[in-house]
Amino acid sequence: MAALKFYQFPCLSDNYGVLVHDPDSGDTASIDAPDANAVETALQENGWALTHILVTHHHWDHTQGIAELKSKYNCRVIGPEVEASKIDMLDETKNDGDQFTFGGETVNVISTPGHTIGMINFHFPESGTVFTGDTLFALGCGRIFEGDANMMWESLSKLAKLPPETVVYCGHEYTQANATFCLTMEPDNQALIKRSEEITALRAQGKPTLPTSIGLELETNPFLRAGNAENFAKIRTAKDNA
Ligand code: ZN
Ligand code: FE
Repeated sequence: MAALKFYQFPCLSDNYGVLVHDPDSGDTASIDAPDANAVETALQENGWALTHILVTHHHWDHTQGIAELKSKYNCRVIGPEVEASKIDMLDETKNDGDQFTFGGETVNVISTPGHTIGMINFHFPESGTVFTGDTLFALGCGRIFEGDANMMWESLSKLAKLPPETVVYCGHEYTQANATFCLTMEPDNQALIKRSEEITALRAQGKPTLPTSIGLELETNPFLRAGNAENFAKIRTAKDNA
């Protein structure tokens, strides 16, 4: 059985799309549908045909391409049960703890409410990869639009328990601005200082800073390192006002 392939591409102003491809079956999933044209270009670059869209949450920059992609590829759209009324064209809905199969691998659904109430993340344990949508970012986390700080802290804590080597793809390239903020929180964190320098160099070359890993975030991301919901809330408020 061949390993799944992951192909990340930038789109819109600061979003990332990712395709997941199974060489054996040919099945190909788009993680969210930020931009139908960008997803199509990525498919063509790889010679893949879209069979699935895995939707993390209802925000427009994750869903606006669904209708066009579904009409072209008749792909199966899987998304959060809790947000089913807000996302058009879902074929299948998922809740926390649900499992399904993609490309011969089991996918674990992890609900991570906070940014939105129904947010779900997709964990591929055999590939050691998780798609965190707008919950966990490199050196950051999503703004709390629909939930509260306790909820977001619980959600991040679930992700923190995944194996440290787990590869993390997320919805946005916010890393450089996040690093600037993180250094104000943990100015003496040597791993963070080193990472911040690497991020500056990558962005100067126009390169992505994603994917990251759970282990790297545990070493450098103050939101994951907060220790409890109260400290987390303080850091989130500070970032919102930065
Ligand atoms: Zn969002
Ligand atoms: Fe987003």
